[in-house]
Amino acid sequence: MASLAQRLPDNVPGDFFVDDTCIDCDACRIFAPQVFSDKGDQSSVYHQPETAEELLAAEKALISCPTASIGSAKKHDMRPALAALPELVDDDVYRCGYASESSFGAISYLIRRPPGNILIDSPRFSGPLVRNITAMGGVSRMLLTHQDDVADHARFAERFGCERVLHRDDVHPRTASIELQPSGRDPIALGDDMLMIPTPGHTRGHAVFLDRETYLFTGDHLAWSERRGHLYAFRSACWYSWPEQIRSMERLLDYRFEWVLPGHGRPVHLDASSMRASLERCIEWMRLG
Ligand code: SF4
Repeated sequence: MASLAQRLPDNVPGDFFVDDTCIDCDACRIFAPQVFSDKGDQSSVYHQPETAEELLAAEKALISCPTASIGSAKKHDMRPALAALPELVDDDVYRCGYASESSFGAISYLIRRPPGNILIDSPRFSGPLVRNITAMGGVSRMLLTHQDDVADHARFAERFGCERVLHRDDVHPRTASIELQPSGRDPIALGDDMLMIPTPGHTRGHAVFLDRETYLFTGDHLAWSERRGHLYAFRSACWYSWPEQIRSMERLLDYRFEWVLPGHGRPVHLDASSMRASLERCIEWMRLG
């Protein structure tokens, strides 16, 4: 639980606060951008919730914080927020919340499909979330973008009996049991209009997943920069090879998509040609870096 004694001084006075255990993962700013903002290397509350909508968003952020760094001075009935995760992003795409500290608070997604739901990266294995996902039809497949965002994959696989997918170059002892381990650099059709596109760079075995030529789940490969106003990549968090990551980004020009749904940062939706133009700007920027 967050500690009032460790409340960060940047929080505005009032009920909600962030304490000094915040790891600056961004999750709270995704779920409640009207309440939380980035302040240096940590988040803090810049606006206390005033409406029912803001309150629900702040409560979802509190639940989703991977380090339990968000607290409230007052006691809240959390049942509406617990029932509201996963949260709809668009059409049949949801974000799960319940970020895991082992994934540095990365956002995971659930795609709800009649043949079987798909989980993209792993949230925390938490009872209320698992119950809600069960009520939504469970999980038939788990697609893992890279080695850092696997979190509680084994517990989800055990609970739902789902097949997991992770590129072989990112498989380590704790993921050795993963059922499908594609290799190489060629795209892999996974059925149901889902394509796995290897994007080495951030890690050696990183991959993104393209759903119906519309939704691109990008893990730590590609995100949106509010400050720059275009797609970008995490130069300071590139663990394998920046030149490889640039080549991987160039290969994405071969694909059509309208959404980028990253592990860190907010989802971005543009028409396909604007998205391509933004990707080109990203590549230009990467070549300079
Ligand atoms: S979700 Fe928690 S750890 Fe992540 S930025 Fe917000 S307060 Fe910090």
